[in-house]
Amino acid sequence: MRKVLILGATGSIGTTALNAIRAGKLKAKVTGLVAFHNENKLRELSNEFNCPYILNTSSEILKDFIFSHPADIALNGIAGASGLEASLLCLYAGMDLALANKESVVMGGKFLFSEAERMGRKIIPVDSEHSAIYHLIQDHSDVSSLVITASGGPFFGRKDLDSITPEEAANHPTWKMGRKISIDSSTLANKGLEVIEAGFLFDISADRIEVTVHRQSVVHSMIRLTDGSVYAQLSPPDMTLPIVSAVNDGNHELHDVVSPLSFSNLTLTFQKWSEEEFPLLSLAYTVLRKKASFPIAYNAADEVAVQAFIDGKIKYTDIAIVVKAVIDTCLWTKTCTSYNEIMEADALARKVACECLLSL
Ligand code: NDP
Ligand code: MG
Repeated sequence: MRKVLILGATGSIGTTALNAIRAGKLKAKVTGLVAFHNENKLRELSNEFNCPYILNTSSEILKDFIFSHPADIALNGIAGASGLEASLLCLYAGMDLALANKESVVMGGKFLFSEAERMGRKIIPVDSEHSAIYHLIQDHSDVSSLVITASGGPFFGRKDLDSITPEEAANHPTWKMGRKISIDSSTLANKGLEVIEAGFLFDISADRIEVTVHRQSVVHSMIRLTDGSVYAQLSPPDMTLPIVSAVNDGNHELHDVVSPLSFSNLTLTFQKWSEEEFPLLSLAYTVLRKKASFPIAYNAADEVAVQAFIDGKIKYTDIAIVVKAVIDTCLWTKTCTSYNEIMEADALARKVACECLLSL
């Protein structure tokens, strides 16, 4: 039986993973559970899955727990920048990583992958688009570009964005996810993070990553080959499949993980996105081209701006203004080569973002 440590166990990714284990879709033994605030739920889960848990209250506690509860693979479903430390600790403890926490890749960049290589561990993406590409490219080496699909969020085509509330922004049309990623999906900052994530995961330049708006979220991503053909991965919009396939990592044959698609009444559409409508996606391409600490600053600024929007301090349309202002300071030319350097860049970007909030 495959052993799995689950980080972010009380969130959307963690819950989907545990449901898949309950339903027998993922054959795995849970060795430990980690979350942040929700101790009541964590205690219930720990009783049900007969394993220990911790609340991540300090780096030392997290490290001790991860090192004393080894597994074949860790599923990192922590939300936000603190996921990076957990990802690194899991690699250092000798575990492969089923990685939903895209911030780990965006912030850690080359450093994260070189640490995985040094430790001889694999990083398997859980984000549905990257999971699709990860599986598609295993059979093809002649890839010319990646085509990432975006649902377009709840406001695609809408013009009056100033009055949007956090509740409206968090209400995603096709996916049920945590609040931060849902709001990011509406601004397409989530797609921006995913473009950066794809750049590092697949070691591919920004010019070879396309984004197409696909409202149905059935085609999870595609690859173009040099011969002109395109391969796509299709499945219902359900995170169970990318989570199960990453954690299982080819160990067992998988059956009936999601319901089969019916083609008797299925319309698939693909549309262009525009820079004016989605400035945060456009900015992510700039950030991926520049690399250095720009991706760290993009992520940190977006986290600060989204929180300020949730707290009612800024308008919906100010999120992009804050992130762009932070990136435009051009303080981000240093390439970080350690965890501490990454966290210093992250802290500086948060400070600059807070200053931008005050000047709005
Ligand atoms: P949620 O907000 O639903 O859940 C976040 C989880 O992380 C909770 O269990 C929370 O614990 C825990 N957590 C937060 N901070 C810490 C911390 N410092 N240490 C330990 N645990 C912490 O988020 P999602 O599940 O939606 O997203 C998680 C990650 O997966 C994000 O990076 C997101 O971008 C990515 N992702 C999510 C998808 C989805 O469908 N939800 C799809 C693709 C990627 P507590 O409840 O105790 O606060
Ligand atoms: Mg995704």
